[in-house]
Amino acid sequence: MYLPDFAYYAPDTKEEAVELLVRSRGTARVIAGGTDLMVKMKQGLLSPEALVSLKNLDGLKEIGTGSGGLFIGSRVTLNELINSPVIQATYPSIAGAAHQMANNQIRHTGTMGGNLVSAVPSADLPPIFIALNARVRVTGPAGEREFPLSDLFLGPGRTSLAPGEILTGVVVPEQKTTGSTYLKFGLRRSGALAVVGVAAAVTMEGPTVKDARIVLGAVAPVPFLAGEAAKTLYGREFTTELAEEAGRVAASECRPISDIRGSAEYRRDLVRVFTRRSLEKAVREGHV
Ligand SMILES: Cc1cc2nc3c(=O)[nH]c(=O)nc-3n(C[C@H](O)[C@H](O)[C@H](O)COP(=O)(O)OP(=O)(O)OC[C@H]3O[C@@H](n4cnc5c(N)ncnc54)[C@H](O)[C@@H]3O)c2cc1C
Repeated sequence: MYLPDFAYYAPDTKEEAVELLVRSRGTARVIAGGTDLMVKMKQGLLSPEALVSLKNLDGLKEIGTGSGGLFIGSRVTLNELINSPVIQATYPSIAGAAHQMANNQIRHTGTMGGNLVSAVPSADLPPIFIALNARVRVTGPAGEREFPLSDLFLGPGRTSLAPGEILTGVVVPEQKTTGSTYLKFGLRRSGALAVVGVAAAVTMEGPTVKDARIVLGAVAPVPFLAGEAAKTLYGREFTTELAEEAGRVAASECRPISDIRGSAEYRRDLVRVFTRRSLEKAVREGHV
């Protein structure tokens, strides 16, 4: 498998990068770590005429807290998510999700932004970020804009980014979440894509659930909030039985497909079990 020919640009500013993408009229692609893109190019699924690297652009490797919350630049790698003291101190569930991904080589190169923009239904980072109410920042021909991450995903491999837009980062707003977690079921212990992924963020008031967000990955064309499952928890004392009930509701809310990694029925049952487990983990252990 050989790579097709392509032109390569490494602009120094975001404006130049946007200009190159706009001028290409859809024939150029952004490249970050390349772990997803290169595979698709080698497989002949994509053949862009040019690649626009983000490696020289300022600010895309930043991780920091400010008035808006926690900012994570789009070029932050999966290993940098895992090892960041700031993320470990604020939302270790993000580091926990990254830790369940791929293998060390891929985590060393693959980026957060690439994982989000690839819009693969089984991608591991979208569920935990959506559970934490994350917003994405993008820059493009019309300037900067920010919107909820859940609105980025339109379908497998399809996003709401306009032509020429680049994802610059993600903002996780400050919140009173008691605990959050992401649990994934893959067919191997490491390096396997999710058959099912469940993220939960729960806010407790004493023994009672005040708020909850449950996000399901790999069981619909896009990651989505299991709103009915979350509603079963509100205002009720948290118990294993309650978490199991929420799991059953989540299983009825998802729309899994059958494929090489598992049947729809198997996935539905995994959603039931992993929803219960992720809720229990989020509530009992706090951030993981
Ligand atoms: C062996 C292997 C194992 C893997 N395991 C997992 C896994 O367990 N879980 C998982 O979720 N994924 C997995 N992946 C997929 C992939 O590695 C990750 O999604 C990774 O985070 C992609 O990041 P990247 O920087 O390499 O993206 P790239 O390949 O550089 O880009 C991916 C796509 O996003 C676009 N893009 C990238 N950055 C931006 C940006 N800032 N703005 C606009 N567009 C952008 C590119 O144009 C391209 O379309 C695996 C891949 C391999 C090869």
